[in-house]
Amino acid sequence: MIDREAFSLAGRVAAVTGGNGGIGRGIALGLARAGAAVAIFGRNAAKNAGVLAELEAIGSPAMAVAVDLTDRAALEPALRSVEAKLGPVDVLVNNAGIVSISGGILQESPESWDLVLETQLNTVFLLSKLAVTSMASRKRGKIINIGSMYSYFGSGLVPSYSAAKGAIVQLTKSMAIELAPHGIQVNALAPGWIETDMTAPVRSEEMRAMNDEIVGRTPAGRWGLPEELAGPAVFLASTASDFITGETIRVDGGYAIR
Ligand code: NDP
Repeated sequence: MIDREAFSLAGRVAAVTGGNGGIGRGIALGLARAGAAVAIFGRNAAKNAGVLAELEAIGSPAMAVAVDLTDRAALEPALRSVEAKLGPVDVLVNNAGIVSISGGILQESPESWDLVLETQLNTVFLLSKLAVTSMASRKRGKIINIGSMYSYFGSGLVPSYSAAKGAIVQLTKSMAIELAPHGIQVNALAPGWIETDMTAPVRSEEMRAMNDEIVGRTPAGRWGLPEELAGPAVFLASTASDFITGETIRVDGGYAIR
């Protein structure tokens, strides 16, 4: 039976990578408002402290973990620190990301390619691998990956980003198949064009043409806000979505439908 309890995250522990800003912050605050204890992972100490204060003001237990996710050796200690303070992780949101606006593979350096793939894709594999053992032992867990419009479309501007985000959709399906018997659902959100630091260059005067194309193509006629990812994330983190797995849900104001 469906009732409000189905959407409640009371008693759940969530970890949100890149939760100290942009979309990750929007999701972290949404999960906390739905009742979850929330840990955010980020590098920037000031941003970590700012969002931690916002989480604490909501009232659920919270913590900020200072970690560079490209440091593979740091991933397990980061996750264990959450378990030690808040309890085992029920919800993992793999959100942290960077983009290299290289202008194409001819301009993209192997180093920048590797960094984008490490942050956007390899970390999702590595952190999920660490989180699922405990989820499987408790027969419940939710993993939410973050795709993009570039999960669907190619891009001459950001090829490494597009490659990583395309892979996120297939990794999400693959993990969903493997983990379903363990009571773990794995889904992705594919945000459209959302106002964050990452997309700030696109709203600058130099990229006005691209900005106009985005707003013109989006049926909603505007950029999305980070907090507009919160509702879909709460749904995917909650028992209301227990029979949904391997899905990528667009949150794009309709951008991809034409
Ligand atoms: P922001 O640049 O605002 O935020 C990125 C977040 O990732 C920050 O919290 C940052 O923390 C964290 N991060 C990046 N690298 C690392 C690292 N090595 N270790 C730890 N944390 C890291 O971007 P958005 O909020 O826009 O992006 C969030 C996700 O959404 C990304 O995966 C992005 O690709 C995706 N996305 C964004 C869209 C948009 O329109 N904005 C559209 C579609 C997808 P810190 O500052 O501390 O490094």
